[in-house]
Amino acid sequence: MGLRFIAARAVSGVSTWGLKNVFHRPAANFPGKMALYVDPQLIAHLRGKLERGSVCVVGTNGKTTVSNLLADVLETSGQRVVCNRTGANLDSGVSTALLHAGKADWGVFECDELWLAKILPQLRANYVVLLNLFRDQLDRCGEIDRIQDSIVKALGSSPETVLVYNADDPLCASIADRAGQLPGREGTRSIAFGVAKSMGLAQNTVSDATMCQRCSTMFEYDWRQYGQLGEWRCPNCGFARPVLDFAAENVQLGVDGVAFSLAKPGAGDAEREGAFSVTARFSGAYMVYNLAAVSVAASLLGCTNEALQKAVDAFDPQNGRLQTYDLAGRRVLLNLAKNPTGFNQNLKIVAQDQAPKVVAFFINDKEADGRDVSWLWDIDFEELAQAGPLTAYAGGIRGRDMAVRLKYAGIDAQTVDNANDLLHRIAQQPQEVSAYIIANYTSLPGCKAALDAAVAAGGEVEPAAGEAPAPRDFGTQGASASEGAASGQNPVVIAHLFPDLLNLYGDGGNVRVLQQRLAWRGIPAEVRRVNHGDAIDLSGVDLIMMGGSPDREQKLASADIVAMRDQLDAYVQDMGPLLAICGSYQMLGREWLVDGEKGPGLGLVGMTTGRPGTSGDRLVSNIALRSPLTDEPVVGYENHAGRTYLDEGVEPFGTVVSNTGLGNNEETKQDGVRYKNVLGTYLHGPLLAKNPQIADWLLARALERNAKRTGQPLAELAPLDDAPEKAANAFMRDKLGAK
Ligand code: GLN
Repeated sequence: MGLRFIAARAVSGVSTWGLKNVFHRPAANFPGKMALYVDPQLIAHLRGKLERGSVCVVGTNGKTTVSNLLADVLETSGQRVVCNRTGANLDSGVSTALLHAGKADWGVFECDELWLAKILPQLRANYVVLLNLFRDQLDRCGEIDRIQDSIVKALGSSPETVLVYNADDPLCASIADRAGQLPGREGTRSIAFGVAKSMGLAQNTVSDATMCQRCSTMFEYDWRQYGQLGEWRCPNCGFARPVLDFAAENVQLGVDGVAFSLAKPGAGDAEREGAFSVTARFSGAYMVYNLAAVSVAASLLGCTNEALQKAVDAFDPQNGRLQTYDLAGRRVLLNLAKNPTGFNQNLKIVAQDQAPKVVAFFINDKEADGRDVSWLWDIDFEELAQAGPLTAYAGGIRGRDMAVRLKYAGIDAQTVDNANDLLHRIAQQPQEVSAYIIANYTSLPGCKAALDAAVAAGGEVEPAAGEAPAPRDFGTQGASASEGAASGQNPVVIAHLFPDLLNLYGDGGNVRVLQQRLAWRGIPAEVRRVNHGDAIDLSGVDLIMMGGSPDREQKLASADIVAMRDQLDAYVQDMGPLLAICGSYQMLGREWLVDGEKGPGLGLVGMTTGRPGTSGDRLVSNIALRSPLTDEPVVGYENHAGRTYLDEGVEPFGTVVSNTGLGNNEETKQDGVRYKNVLGTYLHGPLLAKNPQIADWLLARALERNAKRTGQPLAELAPLDDAPEKAANAFMRDKLGAK
């Protein structure tokens, strides 16, 4: 036993005592953090406590549930388990759990995706269970490719660790593919699990993997479950969902629960006899994947079906995730959702309940949530229109952004100050109205505390003063774009170029904003989504929008876009309005660079984009600009590796006026470009949601073009009530210190 290790243990002992007895705080991270300073190899020195070994659980969604449940199954089987149950998933959390534990049979550790590379080389876990990878906290992670690289590196550092992965997710399968080729891992197998057949769910708009990571060809799907999960195949190189070692079959998805059996498709009859079956009272397709992952791991660790089912039946972590409350007879469901896929899954749960209800969304933007909330626009809130009558509320630090998002989904939401305020308003509703509270990472504890306190006080909550809003059926009200189209006028045609590739940070939200702002004015609009491989004649188009994307997708999209160069040039010269964000803004110039490789641009604007370092060397920040196009500063969010330089005399979109944010590059304090009716910018947000004047500037240009093109009289852009948009803008402007 080394001196460092002895000192590290002493430091951790003192800090645990101090936290618990002096500060009365749980000690889930800090003792391990202190001890790691003293002995950086602490996890390696402690792993001997785990007599049979360990399992790491990684993935964007479901880590805490899967690791807690797996630990429960093992404990039900009579095993002694160490687990970082509260979700402290960095090396400090894993160290703390190990420091506090005695001898055990198994360690089950939830690990942050980027921290696995620190934890695994020391822990040398028997298994890594990889659940899924979705866009989440990209301000911390950059682009999803970086997370994949980091997990592959981690697996390379522990060659005996068996990877158990969700093969329905091409991003996980691609990690297994790459890990299989690493030197030292030739003899280590990977185990694929998935869901055998389609669950028949409606598809969401954004998917995080549309193209093959081996050869950059678009995938084909026999079915998609949600996000990018499904039965996928590359038509070019043959990379496809691997044969499943474990498959969830006979899946039943109900309002009150899920059930399936877990089979080994390639196994003989004897093994099939022993196949697991699981029934759980949690709803949502994502719970099928979580439970499948737990079942596979439990089976690999030698647990019985009985132990699994018993643990699932007893599972009630009381951590605010899918937690049901009874507030004096009223049902309230609280759940965590921290990224678009998690949110979309929650909306499906809400939509299963057709009765009148309250739905509240709490959104914070603290460090652990990610400072950017553009991703709210990658969520299909429009589906709430199918959810029957509801009263909607928005809260949290970025509740104003949430309210704007709901407004453009046709739902008018009131903002609330905090969870208590919400509970008072819920108390105004008739008893039979249930409530759904969906909160992101740091806003969840406040909601849980308010609900726990209300239950402890007997479930009665004082109603707020004033009249309760009646639940409204959002499916049947409001002007929709299609209604406008029936008016016989030639619609304003908006082309959304390559949304299947260029769709980061809610950029598609810009199109929703444009479309709705026309619909509210009774002007018919038609959106043409031009996917990879599709063609369009731009002479019949009035407005073009193209978004940003990770490097890989950008490369594929740039080939499509460069092939349209002559058409785009004619459109721009003819004063056609065009909005290009981030990745596609870069393509307007002469060239752009990806990790040293040159990409040809459109050459429409006098500018060029280079890259000083790797894709990890990024400009990531909230940002505000002064632009001649608006009265108030323009607010947005940037996350890019490229640095753009405008030629002498070329006009920027705006000047950076915030405390944070750099825009085009580190030197010029400018962002974007304005050229004829072209607007290029690094600002996501999406840009137009909090800057409606820019939306209307683009729409005014589009109406002029439409009138010229069709011979119709020029439609008028009547003023709209932009109070929610202005409130969201003002909040960010102040926060960023923008003048
Ligand atoms: N991949 C490009 C870059 O990093 C664009 C990123 C984006 O659109 N957010 O520069």
